[in-house]
Amino acid sequence: MVAPMMMDKNSTIQTMVTISPLQVGLIGDPVAHSFSPGMQQAAFDALGIAAHYELWHTPAHALLERVRALCDERYLGANVTIPHKEAVLALMDKVDPLATRIGAVNTIVHHDGYLHGYNTDAPGLLYALHEQGFGMKQHDGTISLKGLSAVLLGAGGAARGAAFALAGAHVAQLIIVNRSLKRAQHLAAKVQQTYSGPIFSLNDPQFLLPRPASLIINATSVGMHDEQMPLPVEILARFGSDTFVYDMIYNPIQTQLLCQARIMGMHGENGLSMLLHQGALAFTLWTGEPAPLDVMRSKLP
Ligand code: NDP
Repeated sequence: MVAPMMMDKNSTIQTMVTISPLQVGLIGDPVAHSFSPGMQQAAFDALGIAAHYELWHTPAHALLERVRALCDERYLGANVTIPHKEAVLALMDKVDPLATRIGAVNTIVHHDGYLHGYNTDAPGLLYALHEQGFGMKQHDGTISLKGLSAVLLGAGGAARGAAFALAGAHVAQLIIVNRSLKRAQHLAAKVQQTYSGPIFSLNDPQFLLPRPASLIINATSVGMHDEQMPLPVEILARFGSDTFVYDMIYNPIQTQLLCQARIMGMHGENGLSMLLHQGALAFTLWTGEPAPLDVMRSKLP
């Protein structure tokens, strides 16, 4: 647990003990447009923790040096983003089992000169879904999605975390739809090692058969730079209005997929809530304190 700034209670004039702030930051390339600094700094400030969140633009050739520097006592740890989530895994002293299964680390925690790697993207997605009324919170804080049928669009880095999250939450079935069938099949085979439910992999959404109580999760980048849909409108229209569409994209806030889903009477949500929850989980790993969710949320668009 990180000590808040200390006050001398015996003194009539309370004196702030001067301590240099701990450092934590975002490792990636690019990092300039990240919402994490605003969200995390507000959380540290709200809890009176003397820590400063920074942007650490890190090209691939500088990754090793940047990561090993975190072993210094000044550092709490780091967040990791594109394109380093896979590469940093091999640089950790210890990796959490979920991050090992996913093959990606997005949170580094510094403990007494050692670096521990975690993946908070996967549980972050489940907390975001739970906030929308999906799934049951278990005694251990994990989320169960039993009975729901999940369609996962994509098989890249974000989809990998989502696939393991959905399988770990015991969805009734998982259908992975990706442009590259080979990549979808590879992901399905990996997930199937620890998941006993049915998994299907497709590259042609025409073969997608809707099920009641479905979740559609977009983990592709389609819709981020244009008004394209990762799923054709006529395929989306096959699903009932009880379908929930979660688009992991948060910039733009309203993608064409979300727009069309809402026109069809479905509920939908963008990826800001996942960003929030992965950040909140990272904050707790660094500090041992519950994250001030409302404060963090207020810093997001
Ligand atoms: P990757 O580059 O690893 O994967 C991209 C995915 O999109 C692949 O499945 C790729 O298919 C698919 N894709 C890309 N272009 C097309 C296209 N023109 N047509 C069809 N499929 C396409 O990216 P990430 O997985 O890291 O990120 C994906 C999205 O998730 C991004 O928008 C990112 O912002 C978002 N994200 C959101 C987070 C959050 O907290 N909300 C966290 C992490 C990511 P193929 O395999 O065939 O190439």
